[in-house]
Amino acid sequence: MKAAVVSKDHSVEIIDKTVRPLEHGEALLSMECCGVCHTDLHVKNGDFGDVTGRTLGHEGIGIVKSVGPGVTSLKAGDRASVAWFFRGCGHCEYCNSGNETLCRSVTNAGYTADGGMAEECIVVADYAVKVPDGLDSAAASSITCAGVTTYKAVKVSNIKPGQWIVIYGLGGLGNLALQYAKNVFNAKVIAVDVNDLQLDFAKESGADLVINSRTDDAAKIIQEQTGGAHAAVVTAVAKAAFNSAVDAVRAGARIVAVGLPSESMSLNIPRLVLDGIEVVGSLVGTRQDLAEAFQFAAEGKVKPTVTLRPLEDINAIFHEMESGKIKGRMVIDFKHKSVR
Ligand code: NAD
Ligand code: ZN
Ligand code: ZN
Repeated sequence: MKAAVVSKDHSVEIIDKTVRPLEHGEALLSMECCGVCHTDLHVKNGDFGDVTGRTLGHEGIGIVKSVGPGVTSLKAGDRASVAWFFRGCGHCEYCNSGNETLCRSVTNAGYTADGGMAEECIVVADYAVKVPDGLDSAAASSITCAGVTTYKAVKVSNIKPGQWIVIYGLGGLGNLALQYAKNVFNAKVIAVDVNDLQLDFAKESGADLVINSRTDDAAKIIQEQTGGAHAAVVTAVAKAAFNSAVDAVRAGARIVAVGLPSESMSLNIPRLVLDGIEVVGSLVGTRQDLAEAFQFAAEGKVKPTVTLRPLEDINAIFHEMESGKIKGRMVIDFKHKSVR
């Protein structure tokens, strides 16, 4: 079967891989599609270490083809996801307290386990969340990382209905953060990006205020027009956005860090202490968060914008991502074979 694997020179090769036999508790998925996340770009660039030979992909949706011994949670024909949170140990303090994504023995699809950017993918059945009927696979693929991550981040931000939340970075993740914040949490949303394409997209998706931080001082405008946001979610891959978020919020606000630039942010200590600002990291979401994020999408509250692409386009997609040309998500389509 064909798989997109990380090559030594930090690009991606399409190779033929043989699928090993299933072990206890595993299921084999015949993949329908897999979204391309900016985290895949970090992984293939070696930002988190060398993973040459690893199959990418953690926004995967597939149909169960067969199950290994001992599997009771999935059966042939079910539709299930391949997410970044691929498996936890199931018995540590994090796994036992609703914080399973922080498990110290975690494996992550497309990074420490072979992921969903392949015609077939082996999953741990109890960790592969089922996709509800009424949500098509391409839309579900976006929810599997971008959706659940931003749903969780908005949840963690403690935003209340009617309050202002600012989203920095309106790309693959940010556009869904906007929709969850508006349509599920009933917040008022400020969209900040450096790219007008993403800001126009945010406006179409219902943003209440849009600001281009390349040309305008986002924090100043937010303070003037709203008195400071009640919360911020930062998905931008740039420390300038994290620093601006600290200046854009009001006293007592929480800033949720989601984007992964390989840099440090500056934190003014008196600002933190005297204004009671909180800065917290948020990592994808639990299986329960994903089930909830899927359900809101199945109900039509959140509508991912997706473009289906053949597997052969993977390196071109990464170039488009780096040059800021992608609206929504590019999704590798395994159902309709490329004729190119
Ligand atoms: P993306 O490339 O689709 O979007 C990034 C957006 O940030 C773009 O719209 C870009 O124009 C914007 N941006 C860049 N510089 C900016 C700045 N200074 N101010 C405001 N906006 C700016 O990427 P994505 O797929 O949405 O992923 C975003 C980040 O989130 C990546 O670093 C990815 O690895 C990370 N991520 C984290 C988690 C998690 O669990 N915490 C999960 C998935 C992805
Ligand atoms: Zn991701
Ligand atoms: Zn654990």
